[in-house]
Parts: sequence; structure tokens; C-alpha cells
Amino acid sequence: MTTTQKSRARILIADDEPQIREMLHELLSDDYDCQEVASAEEALALLCTESFQLVLSDITMSGLSGLDMVPQVLKLAPDTVVIMISGEQNIESAIRAMRVGAFDYVTKPFAIQHVEAAVERALDYQALRAAKRYYENFLEEIVRQRTAELHKTNQTLRTLIAAAPLAIFALDEAARLTMWNPAAAQIFGWTEAEVLGRTLPLALVADEAQQPTWLQAALRHEPTSGDEARVRRRDGTEVDVNVWTAALTDADGAGHGTMVVMADISERKQAEARINFLAYHDTLTNLPNRVLFEDRLVQSLNLVQRHSQMLAVLFVAPDRFKKFTDTLGHAAGDQLLCAVAERLRGNLRDGDTVARFEGEEFSLLLSSINGTEDAAAVARWIQQALSPPFKVEGHELYLTASIGIGLYPYDGADAQSLLKNAGAALYRAKQQGGNQYQFYTADMNERALKRLALENNLRRAIDAEEFVVYYQPQMSGDTGRIVGMEALVRWQQPELGLVPPSDFIPLAEDTGLIEPIGTWVLRTALEQTKRWQTRGLPIQRVAVNLSARQFQRPDLAGMVAGLLAETGVSPNCLELELTESSIMHDTTGAIAVLRELQQMGVRVAVDDFGAGYSSLAYLKHLPIDVLKIDQAFVRDMTSDPNDAAIVMAIITLAHSLKLRVVAEGVETEEHLRFLRLLRCDEMQGYLFSRPLPATEFEHLLEGQQTDVGQNLSALHV
Ligand code: C2E
Ligand code: MG
Ligand code: MG
Repeated sequence: MTTTQKSRARILIADDEPQIREMLHELLSDDYDCQEVASAEEALALLCTESFQLVLSDITMSGLSGLDMVPQVLKLAPDTVVIMISGEQNIESAIRAMRVGAFDYVTKPFAIQHVEAAVERALDYQALRAAKRYYENFLEEIVRQRTAELHKTNQTLRTLIAAAPLAIFALDEAARLTMWNPAAAQIFGWTEAEVLGRTLPLALVADEAQQPTWLQAALRHEPTSGDEARVRRRDGTEVDVNVWTAALTDADGAGHGTMVVMADISERKQAEARINFLAYHDTLTNLPNRVLFEDRLVQSLNLVQRHSQMLAVLFVAPDRFKKFTDTLGHAAGDQLLCAVAERLRGNLRDGDTVARFEGEEFSLLLSSINGTEDAAAVARWIQQALSPPFKVEGHELYLTASIGIGLYPYDGADAQSLLKNAGAALYRAKQQGGNQYQFYTADMNERALKRLALENNLRRAIDAEEFVVYYQPQMSGDTGRIVGMEALVRWQQPELGLVPPSDFIPLAEDTGLIEPIGTWVLRTALEQTKRWQTRGLPIQRVAVNLSARQFQRPDLAGMVAGLLAETGVSPNCLELELTESSIMHDTTGAIAVLRELQQMGVRVAVDDFGAGYSSLAYLKHLPIDVLKIDQAFVRDMTSDPNDAAIVMAIITLAHSLKLRVVAEGVETEEHLRFLRLLRCDEMQGYLFSRPLPATEFEHLLEGQQTDVGQNLSALHV
């Protein structure tokens, strides 16, 4: 206790006995500022206006007793300390005094030192308690102020986050969401209540398989700033966003989560995409424009150059377009262009491009073609696509088009020269009256024209009965006798003469005409076989070629069975020749069809074996009966050891697989000798006979019949 406090301490003495008051006053007033009252009531009244550190009070007073006063004193002045003075010397009254809140108890008559000591103790205690209360209040006040400030800051932050146009959310260390603002709810479609406490659902992330960089950063509490990303809404649609992440740290720097901020940039992206689209597309038809077309052309050129392939650029322009717009107006012209664009686009292959440059000109990029004919086929297809009438503003318009074709590598090595030359070809097509296509190179036009003429003739050939079947004998290697024949089609074209199959079978395949032609050949060959067999001519078997396209017919086995039934030829008299490539085209489908044929009793031969895939290992899985060695090997086997080895290998392999082997293109005695040495089962070739018309082949058969035992001269050599 300091002296200043002592000197300033104020003491209120309450006693109804004046002598005691005086005595106490005298005793204490040197050190303390003392005041006296004669009753509890007076004391309480004074305490209402003045403050005292200590009240020294008698217990028994007239009026309110000291004991009854104490609680009221403490209520009025909580910092004040009360010491009771009493004549009663028993312990009960002391306890009573303490119970009501007195700090100490002094008995009368009192010793001076006792009083002084009690007063000093009481004042020390009072000072301590007052100081404590002061600091408590002080602290309380500070805490109150800080809380208010924090509350204000929090409130501001919360308002800011709630009102922010940016999605803001926070993840704790376990990647659970601890904050989710309304903009986040807006972007993702998940409400705060649905996501809080959950781990960040991967469904929010566009690419679920691969965590985007921002998410990886967020999970590692690393910062990112404004990366572009794509997130998924609740409805599955995707949103483009910019993402920022920042680690959340304690005051001491320890991380405890990540704050993620996202800005929805989908509108900007859409605008960009739109601008991009406009830069590369024609606004009327939405087709690619010249810039995009040239870009794709350059890319395609790079590709085909690397793989030494072909590519075509076609310019297409409706004929007399100006006349349409002059009579019907430009709006109608625009409608017509859109309709043309629609038809062109509708039939495009993947990877090809149709574009509109300017005016009524369209351009097509055929990014990869197998030959000139592919480009011509597309040109014809365009003519067909445009031929049904267009309905524009209630008018029915019939349109023809001029088409110019530029081919890489023939008509230019780069985009610009190809475009220029395709343009020149278009100009020529127009000059020559329109409704036609023109290649830039003249002899390609000729070829295309020829082919078109051939196609038209081919279409008429079946009805015109221009096809003939020739037969070529197949000889047994053992006996040298005719054991079978191969049916080979010929086209007796009135103007062109006898057209070999190599000139029209590929065209027939392309146009689908092979189906009726093939069926016709099969029927004719079977009918002929039946006729000869009925007449007792020694023909055990007829081999008929099937092209890949025929083989792909789903009802092939049914068609064959029908023709066998119709002609009455036994199925085991029929052998169907297929090339390796048509079997390999779709092996699963092929195996099924081959099985069906085999079950019927029809035999299957692989034609031109060795020329194609030659998947020897695969052979054993295929239900086949015969291998026909490709003529190329037979031709050179007596001069080229490689070919000799191949022929030998094929025969050995075939025999080990229990297949019969037929050698084609046997032209010389040397061939024959070599093949007999290798125990080739059957042979076919000019050495024995060329393919012959039925009447001539009949003579051959008749000769063999009358001349039993005498083999064809060639076999005696
Ligand atoms: P291919 O099935 O391999 O027919 C054998 C070809 O070799 C026939 O030509 C035949 O005339 C010829 N040839 C026969 N012996 C010799 C010879 O000793 N030396 C030489 N250099 N050639 C010989 P062709 O008749 O011109 O037929 C060619 C190809 O046309 C046939 O090859 C076959 O793939 C196809 N083909 C013929 N007729 C038909 C048919 O009716 N339908 C189908 N889809 N294709 C047929
Ligand atoms: Mg054949
Ligand atoms: Mg062949």
C-alpha cells in the first residue's frame, strides 16, 4: 500500500456512541480522511453521494443494525470494505458479520494496534480489489471494442463476398468446402447448404479423369493466378472460368486451406468463338469462307504430300444464277444459295470441306482421294444432289451446275496454283455451256468422259445381252485331264469390241453394277454346266469369280442356294473364287458366310493367292478348300528363285492344311514340269487353252470324251 493511497483513503465511521466515534477519528485522522455518522441510515445516505474506501461500523445501533447495513453498503459501493466493531465478543457475532459481507471484525474495547492493523489490512485489500476490478473493466472494455471492430470487419467481408460477382469458396486441409458464396452457387448450381462440409466434388470439374491444374494447386494449397479452366454445372453443361487460388494461413503462417476465386468468362468465350467463327465463315450460309478453306487446303496438302496421296479441289457454280437474281431479286438469290449450301454440305464425307468464297461460287476440298475417278464421282454426285427442284419464294427452280476440278499433284503443287487451276477448269465448264464438270488437265477430261460413256454402256449391257461367259479348263496334275473350268465374263460391246474384265469389273464394282452382272454370270455358268452334264460331258466342276462387293451381300449364301436349286446343279460342282482382300476386309463376317457356303457343299477357292495380304497364319482359321497361286509367281518361277521358293512354300503349306492347289497362268512346258514336280494338284493356263466361248469349250470336252485315255498333248511332254 503506498502512502499516497493511505493519505487519500477515506473512512466512514458509523457509531451511535460519540465517544467511540471521536476515539476512532482521533486514532485514524492522521493518516486517513475520516468522516463520522451516528446511524446506519446516515451512512447509507452519505454513500449515495460520496465514496469511501472503508466503512467502520458498529453492529448495534438505534435504527438499522450494522449487520443489516453491510449488504446495502456493498450494493451501493461494491469497492468499499466494511469492518464491524462490536461489544459482543463471541465468535458467532464475528461469523454473522463475515456472512453478511464484512471484511473484518474488531471487538470493543479495542486495542489501538488492532484497529490500525485491521484498517491497514482492509485498505490494502480494498486497493487490490479496486485495482483488479479496474483492470477487469478495462480489459472487458478493450475486448468489447475489439469484438465490435471485428464484427464490423467480418460484416464488411461477408457482405463483400456475398455480393461479389465472382465465385468464392474455401477448402480446408481435407479439401472440404468451408465457404461457398452465392456466385459459386450461381455458376455451379449447387447451394451453400448442399456443398458445405463436403469434399469438393469432382463433378464440378470438367475433366474428371484428369485433375485440372487449378484443382491440383488448390489441393496442395498453392497459388495460381487467373488460369483458364472449364468447370461443370450441376446440369452437366460446362462453363469457362478464370481461376485464382490462394493458401489460407494462420497468424503464424501455417496453412489451413485454400481460397478459390472463379470468374465466369463463358460470355466472353462465346463472343470470342463467335468472332472467330465470323472470321472464318460466310455469314450467309455459315459455310467456311476462303480463309478457312485455304487453311484446310494447306494442311491437307502437307498431309497428302507426306503420304504421296491425291487430293482434289472442286469449284461449283450454279448455271445462270444471275438470271435468277435478276428476275426474283437478291433475297431469293440468297435463299437459293443457302439451299445449295445445304445440299452440298449434306453429302459431304468426313474430312472434306465445302466452302463459299464469294458470289455464287462454292468450293469443295476432297482431302484424300484414290484417283481421278473419285473426284469425277463427287462431281457427278453434286450434279445429282442439285438436280431436284429448289423451292424459293413459291417458285420451283431447276438448277444445273458447272464444276471445275483441280487435282494434286497433277494440276499444282501448292494451294494457290490448285485454286487457280480449279478456277480455270470451272471457267471452261461454263464456256462449254454449263451443266458439266471439267478437269483442269485435258486428258483427264477425256478419261473421265470415256469412263462416263463406259458406265452408261455398262448399265445397258445386261438388258442388251452383251455379256458372254468364256470357259477355261482346269487340268488335273496327275491325269492331265480336264477336271473343271473357270467361268470368265466378257463384254461384247458393239462399238468397242470384246472388252476384257479388267476394263470393266472395277467400274462395275464402283457403280454397284457388279451385283446384277455377277448374278447373271453365276446363273449362266450353272445353266451351262447343267446342260453339259445332262449331255454326259465330263465336267465335274465350275469355278465362278465373286468380287468383294458381291461377297459383302448379306444374302449371298441364299442367292447361291437359289441359283443352284433353280438350275439343278449339285452344290459340290460349284467353286466360288474370292480374293484374299475381300475375305480379309471383314474376317468375322467372311468366316460366317464361308461356313454357310461350305455347309451347303459349295467349295471356296482363294484366288490370286500370294498377291495380297498372304496371311498364311490366318489361313488355317478360314473355312476354304482351294488355293489358286497368283499367275505372277507362276510366270517367273522358272527364272526367279524367289518366286520358285514362294510357289513351293504355298504348295507345301496348302497340302499341310489339306487344301487343293491350283496354279494359274501356266504358259510353258517348263512351268508344267516344275509344277508337276512340286505335286501341284491342278493347272490352268494358255498352255492348255485360253478361255473359250461355250461352243468351243464344248468341242474340247467332246474331244476328251471320245479320246478317253488320251490326255491333252501338253501333258505328255
Ligand atoms: P482371275 O480370276 O485370276 O482369272 C484368271 C485370269 O487369267 C483370266 O483373265 C484369264 O483369262 C487369265 N489367264 C488364264 N490363263 C492365262 C495364262 O496362261 N497367261 C495369262 N497371262 N493369263 C491367263 P480375265 O478373264 O481377263 O479375267 C481377269 C480377272 O477378272 C479375273 O482374274 C477375275 O478376277 C476377274 N473376272 C473375270 N470374270 C469375272 C466374273 O465373272 N466376275 C468377277 N467378279 N470377276 C471376274
Ligand atoms: Mg479367278
Ligand atoms: Mg486369278
